[in-house]
Amino acid sequence: MPVSKFRQKVILTSFLFLFFWTRSNLWRKMGGLGELTVVKYQRLGVCGDRFEESGDAEAHLEALAVLVGEGGANVVAIGEIGLDYDREHFCARDVQMKFFERQLDLAKRCQLPVIFHNRNTNGDFEEVVKRRRGDFTTGIVHSFTGTREEMLELCALGLYIGINGCGLRTQELLDMVAAIPMEKLVVETDAPWCGIKASHASSTHVSTKFAQVKKEKFVLGCMVKDRNEPAKVLEVVEVIASIKGVDVSIVAQATYQNTLAILFSGVQSAPIVTTR
Ligand SMILES: [Zn+2]
Repeated sequence: MPVSKFRQKVILTSFLFLFFWTRSNLWRKMGGLGELTVVKYQRLGVCGDRFEESGDAEAHLEALAVLVGEGGANVVAIGEIGLDYDREHFCARDVQMKFFERQLDLAKRCQLPVIFHNRNTNGDFEEVVKRRRGDFTTGIVHSFTGTREEMLELCALGLYIGINGCGLRTQELLDMVAAIPMEKLVVETDAPWCGIKASHASSTHVSTKFAQVKKEKFVLGCMVKDRNEPAKVLEVVEVIASIKGVDVSIVAQATYQNTLAILFSGVQSAPIVTTR
């Protein structure tokens, strides 16, 4: 692994309360990891399509606001929140929209950046983000798979574009990603989903080959075959570097600094170290 400082900060993401409680136990445990400096941060929020699962969406929202308050400086963002019209079977559009806006109210109250989720919303997402742009400090549109025009529009609003394997599937998407200004780019895996597959246009741009075994033959230190894992963020960086025609370290450095600027502004951190 060429990157050593990625471990410096760990953000626990929680989108259901069940996850939150489980992960907050993990959070406590991570405090005792000795020399490894784990700074514990969270982003809190609920995707629109999940809001009704708690049974009482209003109470859910209120509890979320309390958690954000209690988390203080440990809470670094509201998210992921947004709209997903491929998941209307979980939650109707009007309910998604209502609680998307209500969570933007929360972001406004806390002055926190937002991590956005947007899928198949025919311009509705962009409409809300434009109209509410004054209500949040900045934001990342994660797992972006839109067009070049949509990307440029979001960048012009001062937002950042989060890219994982899904955003690198086709040549058209690769051309869009090549045009993302480096100062607006962040990388992610969205593991265990959204991995880069051999059939994707991106696969020929990946240079690192991780040792993999079938899940039935699991070995500590080896990846499970066909499962996307956090370390594979390196593959995303390699593809972007290749299509932009720059060194991997340029993309790694820029996306790391962007992430710090969005989520950890004011936190001092050493630059990442690569072996290349
Ligand atoms: Zn998402």
